[in-house]
Amino acid sequence: MEISVENPAPVEASQLDSPIVPAIEVDPSKTSKKWSREDAAQFYNIDGWGSGYFSVNDKGNLTMLPKGEGGPCIQILDIVEEILQQHIGLPCIIRFQDILRDRVKGLNETFRKVLTELRYQGSYRGVYPIKVNQLREVIEEILDAGLPYHYGLEAGSKAELQVVLAYNADPEALTICNGYKDSEYIRLALLGRQLGRKVVIVIEQMSEVALIMKVAKEVGIMPLLGVRAKLSSKGSGKWEHSAGDGAKFGLSSTEILQAVETLREANMLHCLELLHFHIGSQIPDIRTIREATMEGGRYYSNLRKTGAPLKYIDIGGGLGVDYDGSQSNSDYSINYSLEEYISNVTDTIQQICDEANEPHPHLVSESGRSITAHHSCLIMNVIGSNAPVHAVPTALSETLKTSEFATEVFEILSKITPKNALGAYHDALSKREEALNRFKLGLISLEERAFVEEVVKEIQLWILRNKKRMKRQSADLDEIASKATTQYLVNFSVFQSAPDHWAFDQLFPIVPLHRMLEAPRKNCSLVDITCDSDGVIDRFIARDQAYDTGLQLHQLNGRPYYLGMFLTGAYQDIMGDLHNLFGRVNEVHVFSDDDDPEDFYIQEIIPGDTISSVVEENQFIPAELAKMVRLAVEEKVKEGKIKPRDGVQLVDFYEKVMQGYTYLRN
Ligand SMILES: *Cc1c(COP(=O)(O)O)cnc(C)c1O
Repeated sequence: MEISVENPAPVEASQLDSPIVPAIEVDPSKTSKKWSREDAAQFYNIDGWGSGYFSVNDKGNLTMLPKGEGGPCIQILDIVEEILQQHIGLPCIIRFQDILRDRVKGLNETFRKVLTELRYQGSYRGVYPIKVNQLREVIEEILDAGLPYHYGLEAGSKAELQVVLAYNADPEALTICNGYKDSEYIRLALLGRQLGRKVVIVIEQMSEVALIMKVAKEVGIMPLLGVRAKLSSKGSGKWEHSAGDGAKFGLSSTEILQAVETLREANMLHCLELLHFHIGSQIPDIRTIREATMEGGRYYSNLRKTGAPLKYIDIGGGLGVDYDGSQSNSDYSINYSLEEYISNVTDTIQQICDEANEPHPHLVSESGRSITAHHSCLIMNVIGSNAPVHAVPTALSETLKTSEFATEVFEILSKITPKNALGAYHDALSKREEALNRFKLGLISLEERAFVEEVVKEIQLWILRNKKRMKRQSADLDEIASKATTQYLVNFSVFQSAPDHWAFDQLFPIVPLHRMLEAPRKNCSLVDITCDSDGVIDRFIARDQAYDTGLQLHQLNGRPYYLGMFLTGAYQDIMGDLHNLFGRVNEVHVFSDDDDPEDFYIQEIIPGDTISSVVEENQFIPAELAKMVRLAVEEKVKEGKIKPRDGVQLVDFYEKVMQGYTYLRN
């Protein structure tokens, strides 16, 4: 029998001392309060992390509102249906191109608004760092949406600069060149200058100063230069190592002064127009941003005084995304809005410049995460569950009643309360230990042993259901509760589609796409289809604490059950690896369309990797593999072990699978 875990909903005070809360699933239609779409939205904290782009409709389905409230409203399940009709397999990425546009517009318009309100003299000239999502369609959409604002691009390598040079053709928009540079990289940047573009080479290492001067002289083109300061203000959170003394990039204060002198001597100081800093990605706390901007602002005003004609301050990335929707300074959240971020930066720089009597610089930011995170999600289907068989020990059977041992064990369970639960659990554990020893010696029966094991499981489930009622919260409780989760097997690979979850414990909101008028009563962890025990998601966003050890989902009912993993558009969906040769996933690009009855159309389909393409990446030749299998089959045909006609079909089958998708067929 499968046991279902009751949703740990608020408990009545009168229930608090009742020894046993029934473990049997409560039929939602029989409980007084029905589960509504508002309950679901609140439960999955959709308003918290969704930034207004997601909602639940009255059918209990998850919807997407690419242009916010009042605009088109797309049922994500409709997209999934269309995907499946077109024989595109799951898992599949959906890109909402309208959200990308909305993010670009939001950033630029908010900067405009704040600069006007503060009567700031400079303008905003943002750039999109393409490393955050390098897909052509993503970059094209961002550039197109950014056209009215002269929104530019940032490159961090030669390969990225190749792309950026071709695409960023607006002579007013900036191209920022960061990262390690060789002479080819510098020549590419100068090629951009010859094309009349604002390409800024940012000096990140002392050695680059001489190299840039040498190449510029050879080509006979004056570069536009920036310098990256290694600030001592550090980001907090997961990516804090981008600043501070040990950081990989940037010049120390002494080095910057030296670089200025070197450029002055070479008559190139007039090229130095930009001061850059980047203290890390996903900065949760607005105070950190203010500190860094203060330090950067002082660099600007001091360098101006030494004669460097700086015109731009580039505050780098770091503008975060509220992955858990808690609006806090937790690692997965941010405690500020876009407007607060911009106001803080602008106001800080303005004050410093006014005080120092220096002109307000143009502001540049390199926000990548905040532009791309929301626009894509991964759609996955649940293939099955690994619910352990659990016989709820509600009473002692006739045979067990005569067992002193079983009676003692049952006592522990029937007297459990929030106060003594932890102790009861440990008592039950030692009883289980004792049962094992006695069983080996032939002192107790298999039935008695099984009973103790079920009691331990039942206490784990009890703790899971009642965790919130227990005063002393401890990591122990989480650990115990996590033992009571059901594993849902999901058709995806963590390594391909959520690499940051695996590498940094990054959390992403995961929500069912449907059935949200039913209370979700299964406490789940998600296991992927790789053979790696790290291929698991067992930490989930939680509103009132750092994370939850389980995700409440619906009981599987034999029909398809779809989940969406959201906010995966930054750093995830193009970075994954080929663990177990699970390749790139299929992708559809969706646009909203008011004229369409379903409010959307699929503009483009990008098929994911086939098995033949992933094996080729490891130097195998699919035709050779097929030949090897064919020869082996022919051998068996000759021996009479396989019929000739079956042999042909087997080889055909092998070749057909080679051309197919790497994930499980749905
Ligand atoms: C990665 C990176 C960014 C992007 O940062 P986000 O936090 O994603 O906006 C910007 N600038 C530099 C130098 C980077 O390395």
